[in-house]
Amino acid sequence: MEETKRIEKLTKELLGEIGENVDREGLLKTPRRVAKAWEFFSKGYTQNINKIINGAIFSEEADDMVIVRDVEFFSLCEHHLLPFFGKAHVGYIPNGKVIGLSKIPRIIDMYARRLQVQERLTHQIADSIKNVLEPKGVAVVMEGRHMCMQMRGVEKQNSFASTSAMFGKFKNSVETRSEFLSIINRRSD
Ligand code: ZN
Repeated sequence: MEETKRIEKLTKELLGEIGENVDREGLLKTPRRVAKAWEFFSKGYTQNINKIINGAIFSEEADDMVIVRDVEFFSLCEHHLLPFFGKAHVGYIPNGKVIGLSKIPRIIDMYARRLQVQERLTHQIADSIKNVLEPKGVAVVMEGRHMCMQMRGVEKQNSFASTSAMFGKFKNSVETRSEFLSIINRRSD
């Protein structure tokens, strides 16, 4: 692919700029590997929600809270191009429709594999579930460790970020919100 070739070239230049010998053995294949890795990290830009869901929406009368918790996510911060990663918890209250449970981690991945800030990522996941299911409520909580803070060592103590997006019943009802929060905070062992 044309982009991959260009990223390879840019990576080689970057290595030279930081003072590396681009011809030493250990680095020979690095530009190629980096280009491949970026192809993966930026996959989310070319994916689309309908393809991911692929019809896995079903009619369902029950309106009990559905929660998928502890979904691992990996993303890249748009300010430093460094990883941030952690766990995502998603809850919704159906309004006649449910989504195949395995689709939720895939939706998270689609948005995570783009350059992000954690706040926007959290909202995009919540919005997409809101749009496809029109549920009575949606809640997304994400907890992430940011390498741009941890590796640079300046703000280590604040390196753990928690973000949330709540709509509908999760926003309007304290009881619903507390139920969700207590379930996602429950230890799994
Ligand atoms: Zn950053």
